[in-house]
Amino acid sequence: MASAFSHAVAALSLGTCFYRPGVSKRVWLAGAVCSVIPDLDVVGFRFGIRYGDFWGHRGFTHSLVFAALFTAVVLFVCFRRGAPGLGRFPLTAYLFLATASHGVLDAMTNGGLGVAFFSPFDNTRYFLPWRPIRVSPLSVGRFFSPQGYLILKSELLWIWLPAVAFAALVLMPRRKQPGATMN
Ligand SMILES: [Zn+2]
Repeated sequence: MASAFSHAVAALSLGTCFYRPGVSKRVWLAGAVCSVIPDLDVVGFRFGIRYGDFWGHRGFTHSLVFAALFTAVVLFVCFRRGAPGLGRFPLTAYLFLATASHGVLDAMTNGGLGVAFFSPFDNTRYFLPWRPIRVSPLSVGRFFSPQGYLILKSELLWIWLPAVAFAALVLMPRRKQPGATMN
């Protein structure tokens, strides 16, 4: 995995594509939560589930089908009446992309097994051809080690920096539109 904060940063950055003044902050909060949820699969290790299993780390919870199902759950539980200021389709698209972004980032890390994008139909684990992100340890304790510094540096460079640049690219042209407000 990349660390939880970095997944959330990526989700918030994606959110800029859907940003409109007046959209409830709950939408962006939900996107951040969606982007972190797939890693709940690590609890499986405590129950003897192996990394490469269906329920193993980077297995089903990192798949596109899971992203669609989890999006449906979040819509039902948190946004049954929609989100003020954002249509049903963009809201759905955002929550799906935020959840699915998790697997994409994990597939760009340099360690562990790949991501089961097509589970439950195919449990094959995939990496993207380009894997610049140092894999983050599964235990929080090890994150605060000398290794942790290198991981942080790698995530700042390959996730946070592109996320901020992407957000700026999306938001800046809108600022120039006459009458557009960005408060
Ligand atoms: Zn993960």
